[in-house]
Amino acid sequence: MHERCLFCRIVAGEIPADIIHEDDLVLAFRDINPQAPTHVLVIPKHHIDSAADIGPTDGDLLARLWATIADVADREGLSRGWRVVTNVGRDAGQSVEHLHLHLLGGRPMAWPPG
Ligand code: AMP
Repeated sequence: MHERCLFCRIVAGEIPADIIHEDDLVLAFRDINPQAPTHVLVIPKHHIDSAADIGPTDGDLLARLWATIADVADREGLSRGWRVVTNVGRDAGQSVEHLHLHLLGGRPMAWPPG
């Protein structure tokens, strides 16, 4: 755990969140500032700064992250489609330095993203 990391503190239960899934590897909770009717963040419980820091031993974690996303999308009724975004670094607008996948759905989305 990184003591000053917001998402590590959510994992530790120090900061409340609307948690919709938790297992040994990942946590999923609703974004506090939703950009779509469904906006869920899916994160690894252990600290990884961003997708740029995923390594060759993270295969099980990646599988779990994506399986969780598909399960949440199903539970949220996103049968018309959904989008996953992960921001890396300043130009992409990453504001929390703990890897997180945004699951967005429940409305039509434009392409390319802004
Ligand atoms: P990013 O800008 O890609 O780093 O995404 C960070 C996301 O975390 C933003 O969409 C924020 O709205 C969200 N966020 C920040 N603080 C919280 C919080 N306490 N609980 C849930 N979501 C949060």
